[in-house]
Amino acid sequence: MITCPPKILKVSWILLLYTLNFCTIVTSYSCQSPDDNGILIPQYGNISSSSEEISSDFAFLNIRLKKIWPNGIVKYKLSPSLTPEDISEVKKAFQEYHTKTCIKFLPWQPGDYHFITLQVNDSFCGYTSLCKTGGEQIIYFGGDCRKMNTIIHELGHSLCLAHEHTRVDREDYINFPGCNKKTIPRARSLTSHSSKGIYDYASQMHYECGECNLGGWPIDQNTIEYCGPDLTPGLSLLDADGINSLYDCQGCHRHRWRPSVTLTHSEKSDMESFGFNSRDGTPLYPCRVPFRGEVIPGKYIDSTKSCVVAHGNEVHSVKKDVEVLTFPKGLSYQCSNYKLEKVERVSVDTTTAVPAGTSFRRWNQRSFLAFASVTKSNSDKEIVIAKVAIDQEENRNGKRFGNATMVVGSVVHKVNDFKVLTCSLDKDCMIHQWYTNSFESSI
Ligand SMILES: [Zn+2]
Repeated sequence: MITCPPKILKVSWILLLYTLNFCTIVTSYSCQSPDDNGILIPQYGNISSSSEEISSDFAFLNIRLKKIWPNGIVKYKLSPSLTPEDISEVKKAFQEYHTKTCIKFLPWQPGDYHFITLQVNDSFCGYTSLCKTGGEQIIYFGGDCRKMNTIIHELGHSLCLAHEHTRVDREDYINFPGCNKKTIPRARSLTSHSSKGIYDYASQMHYECGECNLGGWPIDQNTIEYCGPDLTPGLSLLDADGINSLYDCQGCHRHRWRPSVTLTHSEKSDMESFGFNSRDGTPLYPCRVPFRGEVIPGKYIDSTKSCVVAHGNEVHSVKKDVEVLTFPKGLSYQCSNYKLEKVERVSVDTTTAVPAGTSFRRWNQRSFLAFASVTKSNSDKEIVIAKVAIDQEENRNGKRFGNATMVVGSVVHKVNDFKVLTCSLDKDCMIHQWYTNSFESSI
């Protein structure tokens, strides 16, 4: 096994590793993806199709069937090498998944054949295999990286998430000016790692920017100031959405954001307007797009496959990377109640509000879908859909929604009376579902 620059680097470590010429000693593996070595991705040349196929791809059914953890349940063991402090960090990492996704980390029990083992090894920052390998799968972390962030990242690999900055389309989003080509992380091939939606500068599966052998630099540095796993500790909004999609999470995770250009017929019929129509009588569908350092929710225009959003005081119709909100049908025992709710702006309960957007400028600040009736200058009213964010400025006095930013025609309105998409679970329904599932599995 090899050691390479860890993902959460300190400059001193980089210098040390290069001084020792550590990575150039090892020729057959990627030093840029040390924690992917479990699938043996060669950095240059000799790229075999078999290793490619094992890499993460949301689109590949064979991976979904064979390589993900059934029902999102991952059994774990903690190695005796972990200190109480390490265990505390591991538990925080588990909690992050339990809060934002339907993944469940449960203690190993006799008879569990497939499981992960968390183990400290100071030779690595982090290191594990991609997807479920079968049998015992060790997740190493160590050195300066005995932290929740690293553990979340490595757990992400074991759940089948690959590095964001090695996406095949990554050069549309990051670049590597002045870098030696050999130090740039390899982009995965079209067949193994197709685009999985909006590029996520905030992904926990993204290395930090600004080093040739890490994630490169954002192309649009005027609008994106930060990227990398420490934008905020934990899973980004898009990380969580990706996992919830890959694992078909239900409950309040069952909504899905789908790239509009790839919508199947059934996915199109899964779009939800909540009963509202645009002025032209067409249903009012939510969408979201990346724009100037944010992922912004807005109104979808099907005829042009565009998403109309407000940014500052301007209205923009964006066609690149449009995602629409869908609610897959045909699932039995839906216990999640999605609805548009008027929420208190002060002391906001964000546990039920469904986050829809995020900002890469403001440390992964989340925004939400807002619907409102706006009175226009000619006194006509129009139902509009847009974003509302938690107001950072007023956070000191408790969480609070800012004004919703609404587009009517070509004018941006600031609205303080709106409804937000929320989801709550019907507990009676959940109990019934658990009872039914255990009954079915026993026969
Ligand atoms: Zn990694």
